[in-house]
Amino acid sequence: MSKPAFFTSPPPASRTSRTAVNLTAETPLVELRGIGPVRSRELAAAGYRVVRDLLFHLPFRYEDRSSLETVNRVDAEGDYLLCGRLEKLSRVRLRRRGMSMVRGRLVDDTGELAVVWFNRPYLLEQLSAEKTYLLYGRIRRRAEHWELLNPTCEPADEALHSGRIVPVYSALGKLGCKALRRLMGQVLDHIQLEEELADRLPGGLLDKYSLPSLPTALATLHRPQREISVDLLNDRKTPAHERLIYGEFLKLQLELAVLRSLQTREHKAHQHVWGEPIQQLLEELLPFSLTAAQQRVLGEIREDMSSPHPMLRLLQGDVGSGKTIVAALALAVALASGHQGVFMAPTEILAEQHHRTFERLLGERFRVALLTSSSPDQGQLRRELAAGDIQLAVGTHSLIQESVSLRRLGLAVIDEQHRFGVAQRRLLQDKGVRPDLLVLTATPIPRSLALTAYGDLALSVIDELPPGRSLISTRVVARSSRPAVYRWLRRRLDIGAQAYVVFPLIDDSERIDAAAVSGFGEEVRARLSGHRSEILHGRSSREERTRIMGDFAAGEVKVLVATTLVEVGLDVPRATIMIIESAERFGLLQLHQLRGRIGRGSEPSTCIAIHGRLSSDSTARRLDIFGSSTDGFRVAEADLEMRGPGDLLGTRQSGVPLFRVADLVADREWLERARRDAREILESSGERDDLRPLLASAEKRAAVRHQRFTGG
Ligand code: ADP
Ligand code: MG
Repeated sequence: MSKPAFFTSPPPASRTSRTAVNLTAETPLVELRGIGPVRSRELAAAGYRVVRDLLFHLPFRYEDRSSLETVNRVDAEGDYLLCGRLEKLSRVRLRRRGMSMVRGRLVDDTGELAVVWFNRPYLLEQLSAEKTYLLYGRIRRRAEHWELLNPTCEPADEALHSGRIVPVYSALGKLGCKALRRLMGQVLDHIQLEEELADRLPGGLLDKYSLPSLPTALATLHRPQREISVDLLNDRKTPAHERLIYGEFLKLQLELAVLRSLQTREHKAHQHVWGEPIQQLLEELLPFSLTAAQQRVLGEIREDMSSPHPMLRLLQGDVGSGKTIVAALALAVALASGHQGVFMAPTEILAEQHHRTFERLLGERFRVALLTSSSPDQGQLRRELAAGDIQLAVGTHSLIQESVSLRRLGLAVIDEQHRFGVAQRRLLQDKGVRPDLLVLTATPIPRSLALTAYGDLALSVIDELPPGRSLISTRVVARSSRPAVYRWLRRRLDIGAQAYVVFPLIDDSERIDAAAVSGFGEEVRARLSGHRSEILHGRSSREERTRIMGDFAAGEVKVLVATTLVEVGLDVPRATIMIIESAERFGLLQLHQLRGRIGRGSEPSTCIAIHGRLSSDSTARRLDIFGSSTDGFRVAEADLEMRGPGDLLGTRQSGVPLFRVADLVADREWLERARRDAREILESSGERDDLRPLLASAEKRAAVRHQRFTGG
């Protein structure tokens, strides 16, 4: 059969060519054919008002309907585009209620083929035996025959949805994919894209990566030419995609670069003196020698703290890499310079542990206090803080209460920052006048991602563990092995081991089900009778907690049965075993954090994750990854690939912007390029007119963010 005429010509103009008016990017959508007041209100609610908005609604997938096949060449299952008449159309009632089927035969010059549609009874009226149709759909094998299943179907002489690579759009309200395709055709036929969408990216940058201009890229994405590989399109790897990805990243990176330069131009109220005498003091304080990574990071902090501009630094290091001591030394410098310091941790139990550490390290020289909601004499503590008598306050969220004020806050540290929101960070900073800020995180996200998520912070990384750490071996076992696990644990306890047993209850102390805690705890204790175990959860009183943690750290309590309360920060190097119950209920990074409680001493450690029924492949995969790597970066990488950055960073504070096309993980190369280019642009902006508009809008956006940051 000869190809129909349309097929050898370029993609057809849309059927709605009666819209002869020229469209601009700002034309309201209601002026398009096919969009009435109701539709346009719907679209507006989804954020689509004018043609420009529609142009940025990009296909999420492409189907290759450019190569027409003939019936005699159907020889395997797969997607086919066929052309012919439809004969013997009939409706078949199915026994299953609510189901119907339309059957027919597709006939072309080479033969005929069965066609079936489910639940489209209306096709009987719409299809005519006189016309030639283009059908696109899946061929499957039924008994000895091939059958075309649920194909899309349109008259060959008006084909818009076939004969080419066809974009697939996600629906906007009631506007389905086909309707959108028609609209987009209408728009592209009547707009001068080149004039309507001025490209802010200077030609030099586009040339650098051989990228098309924005209008060309958009035209390609909505109406890909047949030469483009559909696989490249679906992998988002065409130059057109890359143009948009790079553009989105560059816009953000420029804003972040401007923002940082605004922030680092501020002056802090309390500048620290970090000279020889202080260096001497630090040497005296140190209980061990720092790793090379710790030293390097301390050097970076020193530079920031000695500068007249406030430090804004994120310190990233895997669990157990030794972030606390670095923060302690920085705090010592602030205190020795005559300023106050605060150190905020997400849980009381962690704040208490840090308080003990800082008291031990700095207590002889400075006044250190603990401020949490269970501190006695809070009024007195607050008065002494306000007067500047307490030099270092270690605490929880209690530190950011309105009633807390400090006289001369020089350095604020936030531990386990992923547990806090940006707002809480701000509240802590606001306790001083542009104090230095150091935030610690064990979330091992890749550098490029960290720089985007926390783009206003400089980044330091501790990428090595202190020497002499033991290996952690991890086993992931099914619940049926539970008795064996506890028998093994008993034997290990018999020879002096200490263990954590963690169970997955929500523990935000409001919702914790105390009965479940003690029920579970008692059961475990019974299995381990003869060894001293204690139960710890968010509702335990402060005295109880202090006693239990003290006894656990001293080796008197052998087993700490706890909620995820122990997830972050706890540091008891002699504990070498961790049992995680119902491990399928934890996220990958949470599991990694939990495991980070062991392997802190020189004895080999073991983590056993016991799981119940695995409800999905991704759960199984998560546990697999957990079992196969103890490297936080590898674990995070895998987590990123599985879940995307939003989840990894936590929605609460991620601050990760949403991109239309770009993907922070998959397009990381472009993120890096954009970051480098943004810095260069900022540096050379004085000499380059072509960069001015780009920069001006970045400055506008950055100024808004900055104002939020400085609070005024
Ligand atoms: P994290 O980075 O997870 O907060 P910590 O600061 O709690 O880790 O440190 C983990 C353990 O390693 C602590 O017991 C700490 O005293 C110890 N530690 C930290 N740095 C060193 C070092 N350079 N040499 C030996 N031990 C260290
Ligand atoms: Mg820590």
